[in-house]
Amino acid sequence: ISSVELAQQFLDRIKREDSKYNSFITVTEEQALADAKSADELRAAGNATPWTGIPFAHKDIFCTNGVKTTCGSKMLENFVPPYNATVTENFRKAGAVCLGKTNMDEFAMGSSNESSHFGPVTNPWGLGKGEKRVPGGSSGGSATAVAARLVPAATATDTGGSIRQPAALCGVTGLKPTYGRVSRYGMIAFASSLDQGGTMARTAEDNALMLNVMAGFDPKDSTSLDREVPDYTATLNEPLKGLRIGLPKEYFSDELSPAMEEQVRAAVKEYEKLGATVKEVSLPNARLAIAAYYVIAPAEASANLSRFDGVRYGYRCEDPKDLMDLYTRTRAEGFGTEVKRRILVGTYALSAGYFDAYYLKAQKVRRLIQQDFINAFRDVDVLMSPTTPSPAFIQGEKTSDPVTMYLEDVFTIAINLAGIPAMSVPAGFVDGLPVGLQIIGDYFSEARLLNAAHQFQ
Ligand code: GLN
Repeated sequence: ISSVELAQQFLDRIKREDSKYNSFITVTEEQALADAKSADELRAAGNATPWTGIPFAHKDIFCTNGVKTTCGSKMLENFVPPYNATVTENFRKAGAVCLGKTNMDEFAMGSSNESSHFGPVTNPWGLGKGEKRVPGGSSGGSATAVAARLVPAATATDTGGSIRQPAALCGVTGLKPTYGRVSRYGMIAFASSLDQGGTMARTAEDNALMLNVMAGFDPKDSTSLDREVPDYTATLNEPLKGLRIGLPKEYFSDELSPAMEEQVRAAVKEYEKLGATVKEVSLPNARLAIAAYYVIAPAEASANLSRFDGVRYGYRCEDPKDLMDLYTRTRAEGFGTEVKRRILVGTYALSAGYFDAYYLKAQKVRRLIQQDFINAFRDVDVLMSPTTPSPAFIQGEKTSDPVTMYLEDVFTIAINLAGIPAMSVPAGFVDGLPVGLQIIGDYFSEARLLNAAHQFQ
């Protein structure tokens, strides 16, 4: 099959199926077919990489030169970037064929994809029974597109769970790398000290192929780390004999339903059969993660989102009376409710008199959480836990209660605060809905995580 035929098949499938899911904001058919044609020529000339001619999609948070990049917001509804994100550029150079941009929570703030200006995304799981369930968020469009087989792979980002939680809820495999492993250049910023681009696909092997393209030092990102990039596919088949698994007891708590726990423990049993050893460990400060995150992330977001002022780019209100009117109406009309909530919380936490009590305190808690993981990895190689407390919920169920929504990430957020890598791997079903096993590793242990996930699949 040629790259053009392959791209066309997936494009046809998107056209036929995506009205049910709404997982794409933009489909770039013409560009994709042109790129596929070039890929076929490259292949004929013997210049192919493993990605040449392979279709995929980008989360609509990655800037794509000449292609609308909305970040799920009205603010950027008509924004066409004049440059590529480094991640975009890496896939382009590898010859991959981008079919379009996937839907997401506005500015990546959310756990259900219901805060998108372009409408919610519907999880393929449950639809057969007529149920409209959330795909998780914020990378719910990418997770759905992969789950519904509209693309074989999609990029995603994870600030507090946004790769792992949707991957779990949609029954696909996702990886959030170590902070600094993948360049943030051209990835629209939410909380810069937590944001990390990563991978989403059906299998660990496909995630490894994606990470091979995405990872690497980038002088354009000041927090990018200059470390060698291994071939992540090379170690997928290493035996797991002797792998030391830790189960954080705080992640098998009351928040977790017995049915969920059963699936996760069954997955751990499989690892024991493969020769791994299992012991209980403790992350004593894990329970503080959500509270610390919801100070730090909004604080950083409030600073990052100050650039959307109606002057430089993006949405501008009509007929502003004066500069103040331009700022206030642009932001009042351009941002959705959740984004405004975060900006308010963030500016409050950073304001004089409150900074020490909230922001500084949260940073100290963050250090304690990081230390918990460092201590745990003295004894074990990986940690395993559920990715989410429950499977995909019905749309609208949690929209009126932000705190319940924030608890969706109770098992994922500490990992971002510590900056370590983690994956979500499909591990069975509860009530016919997919459940994710979270595998957490020490800094730069992506190869080991992918190996562990691959052996399980
Ligand atoms: N659900 C979390 C939030 O709303 C995490 C989002 C993310 O990882 N981008 O902030």
